[in-house]
Amino acid sequence: MSSIGDNVAGILAELPPGVRLVAAAKARTPAEILEAVEAGAAIIGENYVQEAAEAFAAVGRRAQWHFIGHLQTNKAKKAVEIFDMIETVDSADLAAEIDKRSRAAGKVMNVLIEINSGEEGQKFGVRPQDAEALLRAVAPLQNVRVQGLMTMGPFEGDPEDARPYFRITKRLFEDSKTLGLPGVEMKHLSMGMTNSYRVAVEEGANMVRIGTKIFGPRS
Ligand SMILES: *Cc1c(COP(=O)(O)O)cnc(C)c1O
Repeated sequence: MSSIGDNVAGILAELPPGVRLVAAAKARTPAEILEAVEAGAAIIGENYVQEAAEAFAAVGRRAQWHFIGHLQTNKAKKAVEIFDMIETVDSADLAAEIDKRSRAAGKVMNVLIEINSGEEGQKFGVRPQDAEALLRAVAPLQNVRVQGLMTMGPFEGDPEDARPYFRITKRLFEDSKTLGLPGVEMKHLSMGMTNSYRVAVEEGANMVRIGTKIFGPRS
C-alpha cells in the first residue's frame, strides 16, 4: 500500500491547475493528517468540530481548515475559532448564527452554500430552487462572506451517476454569478469525492474533497 504522502503527491500532480484539494480527514488521527499536510495538502476538511479541535492542536495553521460536515448551531462558536471556511451552510438560521459568532470573534467567515442537488436522496443542503432565496438572505450578513457552492452527490456507485448532480450545481453556480449580489462571490465550486472527483472536475469543480484515496479505507 502506498503512503499517505505518496497519495497526496499523486493527486496533486493529477489535478488540473486551479483545482484545489481538500483532504477529507474524518476519523483520521492527527499524525495521519500531519503526514498529508507535510506532503502538500493545503486544506483539511473536517466533519466534526470536536475531532477538528484535536487535529488542529497538532497541525495548527500549517493548513487551512474547511468544515464539510453538518454544522449544528450550538457548535458554531467553536467552529468559528478553528475553521477558515464552512462549506455547508444550508439555512438562513445557520448563516445568522455563524455571522453572530464571527462578529463576536472579530472574524469574517468564508462560507459555501451546500446544494442538495440530489433532492430526495440527501438530507442536507438547500434545494436548487431555494438557493437564490438563501443567497439573498445571507448576502447582507456583515461577518459571513459567500464564496461559492458545495454539493455531495451520490456517495457510492458508478461515478457517472453523479454527473447530473454536478451539472445542476455548476449551472446554479453560473446563474448565481449573474444575480450581482453584494457580498456574494461565486469563486469556489466544491464537488467530488474519491469515487467521483474526476467526473466533478470535468463538470467544472475547482475544489474536490478526497478522503479514502489519500488515507485508505475508513475502518
Ligand atoms: C467523507 C467525505 C468526503 C470524502 O469521501 P471519500 O469517499 O473518502 O473521498 C468528501 N466530502 C464530505 C462532505 C465527506 O464527508
